Amino acid sequence: MAFHMPVSAHRSSLPYRLQAGVRKAREVGVVGHALASTHHPVMAQIVPMRRCNLSCAYCNEYDEVSKPVALDEMLRRIDHLGRLGTSIITISGGEPLLHPELDEIIRRIRKTGAIAGMITNGYLLVPERIKRLNAAGLDHMQISIDNVQPDEISKKSLKVLDKKLQNLSEFADFHVNINSVVGGGIKNPQDALTIGHRALELGFTSTIGIIHDGSGQLKPLVDEERRVYYEMSKLEKKNYSRFNHFQEAIANGRPNDWRCRAGSRYLYICEHGLVHYCSQQRGWPGTPLAEYTQTDLDREFLTEKSCAPNCTVSCVHQISYIDHWRAPQTRMADVAPLAHHLPHSADSGDRNSELVNIEF
Ligand code: SF4
Ligand code: SF4
Repeated sequence: MAFHMPVSAHRSSLPYRLQAGVRKAREVGVVGHALASTHHPVMAQIVPMRRCNLSCAYCNEYDEVSKPVALDEMLRRIDHLGRLGTSIITISGGEPLLHPELDEIIRRIRKTGAIAGMITNGYLLVPERIKRLNAAGLDHMQISIDNVQPDEISKKSLKVLDKKLQNLSEFADFHVNINSVVGGGIKNPQDALTIGHRALELGFTSTIGIIHDGSGQLKPLVDEERRVYYEMSKLEKKNYSRFNHFQEAIANGRPNDWRCRAGSRYLYICEHGLVHYCSQQRGWPGTPLAEYTQTDLDREFLTEKSCAPNCTVSCVHQISYIDHWRAPQTRMADVAPLAHHLPHSADSGDRNSELVNIEF
């Protein structure tokens, strides 16, 4: 499959590079603050829209019917995350671009001083929509692309999305990361390499995630998948691969020894405004965000999660890495085994390598 259009003039222009420099300086500030203090969330993921315009077979994070969360409620949640000192707020879903007041949500995130990110399937990215995201102040976008040609598992395909990627290359002022995947359900492992090369060609960064099928247990990749995984890892910028060493263990079916800081350094806020450890452990602690306080953050920082050894939730690994050298956990949360309480699979491609994109 041949693709055209290399890095756009826009992405190599001086104004774009100046803006990217300012963004980088803000990110360095986030890292410094995170290293200096353990008492605030580094990242929160919020869901303003559970509905999605796609229905990927492996996904347990969407429905086909729910309405957008009201804007004033979303603004209240963002303000509370601001009061807790949250450094990065990432909008997720479902499909966030279906929310009619998404731009106001992004503006409010920036008003708190946080870095504003978004995870989208990219289907709705026309030039006019991209320019509105620029104006709202979006800092980062991640699009997860599963295959080159659409199939019954996923329509998040390079063939369908390449025009959207070209639009982004030409008009987006924000950073764009393209995540590709290997593992359960993806027919052709080579697709990840095609997607990764195309992302770099257009001036984006590129990462790879591993997905697993419905058992929720670690499964080693087959030989061809592992070969593609290692080749893709070489394409990733050094700062990503430094944090993805945990994926090495996953690729080989080995559990990881790490301290999950979910509920403290990372928060997942569902559409009902409840705080959960992550998208795969909804219900723990399940506290309304408006009632979530410093006491909760400090307790969860020191709480060991029983699901940690087999966890594939990449963004929480990356965030938790900041504190890996300090504060052993002294309390145990005996949460459900992964995937046993959710309807579909153990992990979803969009979320498998969630947006962090900060150079530590
Ligand atoms: S993986 Fe993303 S695009 Fe696919 S159904 Fe889930 S939320 Fe929608
Ligand atoms: S699934 Fe992973 S990120 Fe979520 S609570 Fe368990 S260990 Fe933490």
